[in-house]
Amino acid sequence: MKFNSVLESLKTYEAGKPIELVVREYGVDPKDIIKLASNENPYGASPKVTAKIQELSKNMFMYPDDSMYELKEALANKYSVASNNIIIGSGSDQVIEFCVHAKCGEDSKVIMSKTTFAMYEIYAKQTGATILKTPDDEHNIEQFKKLYEENGADVIFLCLPNNPLGECLSKEEVYAFLRQVDENTLVIVDGAYQEYASYKDAKKQIQPSDLIHTFPNTIYLGTFSKAYSLGGMRVGYGIGHPEMIKTLHKLRPPFNITTLSLAAAIEALKDEAFVQECIAKNFEEMKQYEAYAKSNNIEYIPSYTNFITYKLPLEYISAQVAQALLEKGIIIRDLTSYGLNAIRITIGRADQNQKVLNALDEVLNSLKTAKVYD
Ligand SMILES: *Cc1c(COP(=O)(O)O)cnc(C)c1O
Repeated sequence: MKFNSVLESLKTYEAGKPIELVVREYGVDPKDIIKLASNENPYGASPKVTAKIQELSKNMFMYPDDSMYELKEALANKYSVASNNIIIGSGSDQVIEFCVHAKCGEDSKVIMSKTTFAMYEIYAKQTGATILKTPDDEHNIEQFKKLYEENGADVIFLCLPNNPLGECLSKEEVYAFLRQVDENTLVIVDGAYQEYASYKDAKKQIQPSDLIHTFPNTIYLGTFSKAYSLGGMRVGYGIGHPEMIKTLHKLRPPFNITTLSLAAAIEALKDEAFVQECIAKNFEEMKQYEAYAKSNNIEYIPSYTNFITYKLPLEYISAQVAQALLEKGIIIRDLTSYGLNAIRITIGRADQNQKVLNALDEVLNSLKTAKVYD
């Protein structure tokens, strides 16, 4: 059968490996598996959210409130915007899809950093748009400027901070660039890890209300999947100019998040103390990974997120390192598919991090020995 030809060159998104796979293939006991591959919050959801879900499980036969009134009010209040500035998606992934499909077609151009969230390219390619990437792996604002001046663009993606590398442009750099961007170019500011970046360094903080009022051609994306611990519930949002949000709603399927997801997100917003506590622990725990890298001559990218990316020395192959860890029941992310000899590890809980660093040390030592006697 013939399908839309744009799909021919399209790769399927490769998600982090699930616990179930490691149980099936390596026979590891599920309770011994450490999953630090998808940047989930390792502390789990707030107990308040869990309690609410148990209480509401009797409601699952009912469709959710499709206007998502209460969640939008709560987000509007948190970010000092209005409800009509907000659209809710099944993860912020779905909002990316709305944005790209609202803006792009075969003749469109989309600018992004060379090594960034894989879904940007996938959604863009679905429309037949041309992808233009800046030359460096990490975001470099001068390269964005140059590429934009030379080619123009319908959509520009800025991942602040960037997944899978962890770096983050400052607000000042971003604003200086946005001042030069045409009002007909949609700039998508993906703030999936903004809670972490703004905790670590106020200069990296992007405030959605300030962003969209200063630049009506931008949209800010947030998610409940990372700091808010609700990856499995699939809730994200976009904050933009009311006219833009109104257009994006034309692409939204009805009831795009579930009754329980909606309740979980509303409840999670009531427990900001829990989120802040998790973020503080994240950066405390990250220090061990930085120290390990320094003492073993592994280059790492200073991270503004809940993960750290190690660029491995040439004597190691990242896919082999990830595979050896997998066999020990530790799931991390190999970045070979991004063209890098690197691994990305989500910062876990203290007990997990200790085990991960011990296992990594064993793996690196044994791979090194294997090489010597080859
Ligand atoms: C995780 C992530 C998202 C969105 O995740 P959802 O679970 O779909 O909300 C978006 N952008 C980046 C960069 C991410 O890492």
